[in-house]
Amino acid sequence: MQVLIYLVYLFASVLFIFGIKRLGSPKTARQGNMLSSLGMFLAVVVTLFDQRVLTFEYIIIGVLIGSALGAIMALKVPMTGMPQMVGLLNGFGGGASALVAFAEYSHIMITPDIHVDLSTSITIVLSILIGSVTFTGSLIAFGKLQEIVTGKVVKYPLQHPLNVVLFLAVLVTGVLVVLDPTQINLLLIIAIISLVLGVLLVLPIGGADMPVAISLLNSYSGIAASMTGFVLQNNMLIIAGALVGASGIILTLIMCRGMNRSLMNVVLGGWASAGSGGPAASSGVQNKPVKSVDAEEAAMLFESAQNVVIVPGYGMAVAQAQHAVRDLANVLEKIGINVRFAIHPVAGRMPGHMNVLLAEAQVSYDKLYALEDINDDFNNVDVAFIVGANDVVNPAARHDQNSPIYGMPILNVDYAKTVIVNKRSLNVGYAGIDNELFYGDNTLMYFGDAKDAITKLVHEVKNL
Ligand code: NDP
Repeated sequence: MQVLIYLVYLFASVLFIFGIKRLGSPKTARQGNMLSSLGMFLAVVVTLFDQRVLTFEYIIIGVLIGSALGAIMALKVPMTGMPQMVGLLNGFGGGASALVAFAEYSHIMITPDIHVDLSTSITIVLSILIGSVTFTGSLIAFGKLQEIVTGKVVKYPLQHPLNVVLFLAVLVTGVLVVLDPTQINLLLIIAIISLVLGVLLVLPIGGADMPVAISLLNSYSGIAASMTGFVLQNNMLIIAGALVGASGIILTLIMCRGMNRSLMNVVLGGWASAGSGGPAASSGVQNKPVKSVDAEEAAMLFESAQNVVIVPGYGMAVAQAQHAVRDLANVLEKIGINVRFAIHPVAGRMPGHMNVLLAEAQVSYDKLYALEDINDDFNNVDVAFIVGANDVVNPAARHDQNSPIYGMPILNVDYAKTVIVNKRSLNVGYAGIDNELFYGDNTLMYFGDAKDAITKLVHEVKNL
């Protein structure tokens, strides 16, 4: 039986690895998701055959409650609420790892003649430390994004020294537990300090920086699970946790690179402390004139174009305008216009945000171009149509060394012959800064909620 369990674990691990690989491209992502889900299903089922499982009642109750909650959340949570949902799930993962490590420790303590070896005691301490930090840190992250907790950067007296002291306290207590594993009280102290540390570490991060912090906490939850895998001597948990830990940190670094910021800058509340008063908090809007168009005028500009590039951003997600955008692309193509989509790596609020929305609206993958594949071609574009994007098309990133987004790669939409920007106002985006694109000679603002405005535009193009 044990050999069979190991073989299924091995197979499930292979499914995880292939699943993650396939998640790397929109074309294969669905299949990747299915493969990973199958791997997880097999891992859960085969774990139930473990000899240490004595009764199934509580497990069945847990599975029923968990599955029902999971299904409801999957159906109810809107796409824009995904970052906080992931945050919450990370928190549960971290909390579960800490509790399992604690349970295993208690089990060892009440079992006569069992000696706690060095690696077990170290991994129990690490599971409880990382799992507890992840738990409360993720709950604060969730609260910030859900606006239950203030989204502002929260500074408190002696912030950094206090965190260092708490961290050293956990470290010293951890060493004492490793030296004398019978000290259950010390383990409780580690858990309590770690729970406090989770709150204190995430509280100072600006609400708008949360997606990056959540990706980092995702990585922590994987590391905590992996540590618990060592405690339980369960290879499956070690591998699955390591995969989550590694992919979480890679994703975090990709997001930071896409924004041209260091991880430290995000974790210490970088943009917020750059003087803007917090991302998206200041208006920063200049009192310069802009040219605006209505739906009819915009439709006429499209009519005389041959090459159109649509650039979606966070506003498209907020307005849920992806279906209207797809309709626009279809009607333009019907009148012989070449339509492509330019996708910035950090457009929206999570990696792949725009790809997911456009895939949901059945926009074909081959029309989606990554920044590096389309940026040199904007000189040949007749109309660049920006839908609810702001920072990712701000030319200040190329030349203004004082701009907080200086150095961030942007889509060169200002090189197009005509730029039409759809958003509701001249308000700032995530970085909290004005966008000189709006005042460019070749830029026309098309104000309005993306869904309404584009629906009107589609109507006008059809009537041409
Ligand atoms: P931005 O956040 O820069 O701007 C979004 C714009 O959408 C706003 O200026 C807003 O203007 C407009 N908008 C909001 N609601 C609507 C609506 N209903 N209809 C039309 N427009 C609307 O978005 P970008 O996608 O350009 O940039 C993403 C930003 O998020 C970058 O700064 C990136 O670094 C950051 N980020 C991205 C992450 C990722 O992984 N994708 C993770 C973390 C951060 P108005 O109010 O005038 O309508």
